Amino acid sequence: MQLYGYQLKKVIKVKATAYDSCEICCGKTDGITKTGTKAKTDHTIAVDPKVIPLGSKVYIAELGKIYTAEDTGGKIIGNRIDIFMDTHEQAKQFGIRELTAYILLENKENSMDTDFRL
Ligand SMILES: [Zn+2]
Repeated sequence: MQLYGYQLKKVIKVKATAYDSCEICCGKTDGITKTGTKAKTDHTIAVDPKVIPLGSKVYIAELGKIYTAEDTGGKIIGNRIDIFMDTHEQAKQFGIRELTAYILLENKENSMDTDFRL
């Protein structure tokens, strides 16, 4: 996979779980993330901002998708992420997985040199 317009900042192993916008997962149901955005499937992840800064793009190798770090959670501390999903059932089925997270920086200067291949 070629990722255009990004620089690779860091690759880390994370323990991942999943969540949705239900009362059980969030204690509220508005689906609004820590950064004020509306949580979206295949887009939103919750992170520990000390490990992955909020606003970062994060490529999850095992899932083949780029997510945006825009939420936090009480149990999301250290090398932990929580992946937003549509339903509580999907989130539960996801379980706990060891995943590889590529923390990306958006490349504002338009330099082809910093694109990289995974
Ligand atoms: Zn839930």
